[in-house]
Amino acid sequence: MKSENFETIAIRTQTERSLHKEHSAPIYLTSSYKFDDAEEMRALFANEKEGNVYSRYSNPNTSEFIEKMCLLEGAEDGFATATGMAAIFTTFGAFLKSGDHIVSSRSVFGSTHQLLTNVFSNWGVTFDYADLDKPQEWEDLIKPNTKMIFVETPSNPGIDIIDLEFLGDLAKKHSTLLVVDNCFATPYLQQPIQFGAHISIHSATKYIDGQGRVLGGIILGSKTLIAEVVGFARHSGPALSPFSAWVLSKSLETLAIRMDRHCENALKVAEYLEKHPKIKLVKYPFLPSHPQYAIAKKQMKQGGGIVTIVVDGGIEAARKFMDGLKMFSISANLADTRSIATHPATSTHSKLTEEQRNEVGIEQGSIRLSIGLEHINDILADIEQALA
Ligand SMILES: *Cc1c(COP(=O)(O)O)cnc(C)c1O
Repeated sequence: MKSENFETIAIRTQTERSLHKEHSAPIYLTSSYKFDDAEEMRALFANEKEGNVYSRYSNPNTSEFIEKMCLLEGAEDGFATATGMAAIFTTFGAFLKSGDHIVSSRSVFGSTHQLLTNVFSNWGVTFDYADLDKPQEWEDLIKPNTKMIFVETPSNPGIDIIDLEFLGDLAKKHSTLLVVDNCFATPYLQQPIQFGAHISIHSATKYIDGQGRVLGGIILGSKTLIAEVVGFARHSGPALSPFSAWVLSKSLETLAIRMDRHCENALKVAEYLEKHPKIKLVKYPFLPSHPQYAIAKKQMKQGGGIVTIVVDGGIEAARKFMDGLKMFSISANLADTRSIATHPATSTHSKLTEEQRNEVGIEQGSIRLSIGLEHINDILADIEQALA
């Protein structure tokens, strides 16, 4: 029975059962596969026949995870990687050559910033940063050699948003690739391909696992583009492990129900903090006070699980609030069942200068709250007592 519904696809898309007729998918811990005869080996290597050859190329658990993600995101094909950064590196490696240029959102994951400034710049790829809240800047920065537009929306930790439909049209007009890091939203809340993105990337380490257990990543797109990604990835070797693929495919079974609760809890926290006298600013996509609220409502199903706040009193007050939390974990990670508080200026974004931090909306008093799945009363009570 084929379903159009997210929850059913996420649960019922399953690799073929083995002769043991297991209900839950088994783990295929095998590095390679055997061939019936010399002819089958030849045909598989010549791509005349479909099948597994070697787990750097494909594996039944990885294939199940990819198939689910493609259906959930509305993509034709995908390639799964060992980490989210491997997915970003592989995408850059597959599509960019010396002389190419990228227009990227200024606010990108710290390691993506390092890839752009310290790795691809050595290989002759140049880039310019544009701000999410200044759409005109994006078109102004496009040059004849611009090969790719790269964007994270909502951004980390600024929670800024850009209109994906606008970027999709821009990419079309200038014949560039539009690549979206869709990690904060997950396919449940936002499907960039629907708005004209060519490639959607996830760090599966975050909400897709959502339980802080494994690292993983995925690259999703059209058959033609993913064939280019696979051509690069098969030989450079960033493949996801079968064990992690098995964990991630299981995690997808509960993604919808987990995201519903993350979003419900996060909205309640955002609404509570917005009224609190000690809080200078609350950024959450589904708060009407968010500058891009209308765009968020258009392209996202719900607001996500991350709330960024600025406490009154700068770094001292921020640190005091963090140290006052009793249940929240202080960690650099996010998107876990456990609620987490992070101080970006002294952790994830400490390598940036204060000026660079200000440009991406990180103040000394900014705190990123990843709202978990504990009972909402306990989450609110912990925040309340820490602010007191
Ligand atoms: C965590 C993260 C990454 C990197 O993912 P890893 O799995 O840690 O390599 C990339 N982009 C965003 C937005 C992230 O939050």
